[in-house]
Amino acid sequence: MTPQLTDKYMVTIAERLTSAYARIANAANNAKRSSNEITLLAVSKTKPSDDIIAAYEHGQRQFGESYVQEAVDKIAQLHTFSDIIWHFIGPIQSNKSALVAANFDWVQSVDRVKIAKRLNTQRPADKAPLNVLIQVNISAEEAKSGCSIEQIPELAEFIDHSEQLTLRGLMAIPAKSDNPNEQTQSFEQLQTCFDKLKAQYPHIDTLSMGMSNDVEAAINTGSTMVRIGTDIFGTRT
Ligand SMILES: *Cc1c(COP(=O)(O)O)cnc(C)c1O
Repeated sequence: MTPQLTDKYMVTIAERLTSAYARIANAANNAKRSSNEITLLAVSKTKPSDDIIAAYEHGQRQFGESYVQEAVDKIAQLHTFSDIIWHFIGPIQSNKSALVAANFDWVQSVDRVKIAKRLNTQRPADKAPLNVLIQVNISAEEAKSGCSIEQIPELAEFIDHSEQLTLRGLMAIPAKSDNPNEQTQSFEQLQTCFDKLKAQYPHIDTLSMGMSNDVEAAINTGSTMVRIGTDIFGTRT
């Protein structure tokens, strides 16, 4: 089933992936952290399965998707690549939660109890619990998704008590900024939330922040997972 890929095509994604790993290693080094602490999530939304295979063949295993139906189709196409770890990172509508619960390993965009409850009920019993990040809206006036900082404790408690969910940490998509100081300010808010949550739930280990535009600021502020799309797969149309 593997489609034929031209060498040129494969080199492109492989080279971009190599650059992304190097960028993470460099940012970790500057922040005096080990790059082993930071996972690269390759965000493949809108990109064809061939692109995912090219990244997979270069060693990438964790992929992020934002649109449920598109993602479910690709996960089915790629089912023989059984060690891919799929992360859902887009907004979750109630009527799509069952597909998310059945097909993904992680969900990074849980922002209300109603959705957490549905995911817990709908997660198939024969699968390991779904790994969950709470999405926090740290620039309230701009973004539409994410819970407020004040809502984190209630949501965390609910997830922690749900048998088919495992609380792993927090995720945020701050308002886009090209100013590193502004980027850092947003990330510091999330880091503070994460530290507080970890004091109560010591097993949590994932602070998902940083995208193509702000990897350095995120890693400098404690990110353990950066989500990179454009820099690996090219611009989206
Ligand atoms: C699209 C997306 C990304 C990747 O963004 P790039 O700027 O292309 O790196 C990361 N996180 C989320 C939640 C996204 O929706």
